[in-house]
Amino acid sequence: MDLQAVIAEKITEKGAISVAEYMNLALSHPEHGYYIKKDPLGKAGDFTTAPEISQIFGEMIGAFLAQQWRIMGEPATTLMELGPGRGTLMSDMLRITRHVEGFHNSLSINMVETSPYLRAAQQGKLYGQHPDISWLETIELPPKPLLLVANEFFDALPIRQFVSQGKEISERMIALRDGKFIFSPENAPVIREHCPAALDITRKISAHIAAHGGVALFIDYGYIGGSRADTLQALKNHEYHDPLEDVGDADLTAHVDFNALKDAAKAGGATVHGVISQGMFLSRLGAPVRAKMLCKNASDEQQKTILSALSRLIEPEQMGDLFKMICLTGARHPKPEGF
Ligand code: SAH
Repeated sequence: MDLQAVIAEKITEKGAISVAEYMNLALSHPEHGYYIKKDPLGKAGDFTTAPEISQIFGEMIGAFLAQQWRIMGEPATTLMELGPGRGTLMSDMLRITRHVEGFHNSLSINMVETSPYLRAAQQGKLYGQHPDISWLETIELPPKPLLLVANEFFDALPIRQFVSQGKEISERMIALRDGKFIFSPENAPVIREHCPAALDITRKISAHIAAHGGVALFIDYGYIGGSRADTLQALKNHEYHDPLEDVGDADLTAHVDFNALKDAAKAGGATVHGVISQGMFLSRLGAPVRAKMLCKNASDEQQKTILSALSRLIEPEQMGDLFKMICLTGARHPKPEGF
C-alpha cells in the first residue's frame, strides 16, 4: 500500500482529516513519509537549501555561534540543530570553528532528526568531526546553556487552516472523492492558518534559554506582519506541485509566520532579536569577504561558482529577502552581531 492508499483508507473509515494531519502523514508517516524514505535535497531531489548552495552559509553561522559562546562566558553547552538535512550545515560549522580555543571541547552536540535516511546521511557527513554527537527524535534539553540553529525546519511542521463560509468558520479538512483528495469544504476561502507545533517548540526553547542561557537562530522562508491565509505549497523536482497530488513524493511546506514565532518566544521568556533578512545577516557577518578569500586559490570556473552561490544566498531577488531570521537570547545577552 502506498501513502495515497493509506490516507484514503483512513478517510474512508474515519472521515475527513485536517490539513495538519494530512501534512503530518505526508511528511512523517513512519513508513511512507516524504522525509522518512528519501533524500529530498539537492539537484536530484525536490529543493535545495542554503547550506547545500555554499559552505559560506554554515561558516558564517558557525563563526556567529562561537562568538556568542565567548560572550556567554565559554560555558559547557549543548549545540543543537533541528532538522539537519544532510548534515552539511553542522559539518561546515564544525570545520570553521575547529581552532576556536576550547569551543569544541565544551560542546555536546544534539541532532534532532526524525528521518532514519537523513540521520544516516548526517552520521556519514559528520564522521570524525566531533567526539560527542547524539541523535534525538524530539527536542530534549539538558539543564545547561544552549546554542541552537534551525534552517528550513519550521516550514516543514504541520499547519492548521481555517475557512469561512458565510458567517461560519471551520477548520479546512481533506476528504476523498473518486479516489482523489479534495479540500473540504470545497472552494471556501482560507482566512488564516497557524502552526501549533512551531509555536510549542519556540516556547520550549525560549523558556530553556531564559532559565539556562543560550542563543537560538531560526532561519526560514516566511513573512513578517499580517497573517497570510494560505501558504501551503508542494514542491517536486524544483517545481510547484498540487499539494493534494503525489502525497509522500512531493515536499509539503508552509511559510513561517515570524511575528507569531516572535510572540511565542517572548511568551517563553527569551529576548528576541530581528526579524532580519538572511541577505542582510550574511552581508553584515562578512560573507562577501569570505567569498573573496575562497576565490583567491580558485580557478576561474570555481570563482564563478563561488560568486554565483553567494549571490543566490544574499541577493534580495534570490534567497536574500524571502529567507529571514530571528535570534533568541537570554535577557542580559548583548544584541548579537548582525542583528
Ligand atoms: N536544515 C536542512 C534540511 C531542511 S529540510 C538544510 O538546511 O539543508 C527539513 C529537515 O527537517 C529534514 O532533515 C527533515 O527530516 C527534518 N524534519 C522534518 N520534520 C521534523 C520533525 N518533526 N522533527 C525533526 N526533524 C524533522
